[in-house]
Amino acid sequence: MKLVQCPYCKKNLTYVEVCFINSKDNYLCPVCKENSSVVVNKNGRTLSAITLIISCAIVSICFLFLRRGIFWPTILITLIFAAFFILVPFFIELEK
Ligand SMILES: [Zn+2]
Repeated sequence: MKLVQCPYCKKNLTYVEVCFINSKDNYLCPVCKENSSVVVNKNGRTLSAITLIISCAIVSICFLFLRRGIFWPTILITLIFAAFFILVPFFIELEK
């Protein structure tokens, strides 16, 4: 998987840099000083939808059928969301 690059000067961003721009609307390139808008691409939106659906399914199944402890479902959902947040930087794009 490839990380995003500046649309102006083609500077490749590091994983940590992408994590930090993740929560912002704009990215100011330190090399060319140009501003670009931060967007999540189609695959990223699909991934977030899948993450939500799986989490909802796990919660529903646990409440409907298990009625036991919430320890394992909680751990499972935490892991799913952790995986999601680790993967999200690969779905970020910068637009001019
Ligand atoms: Zn740049």
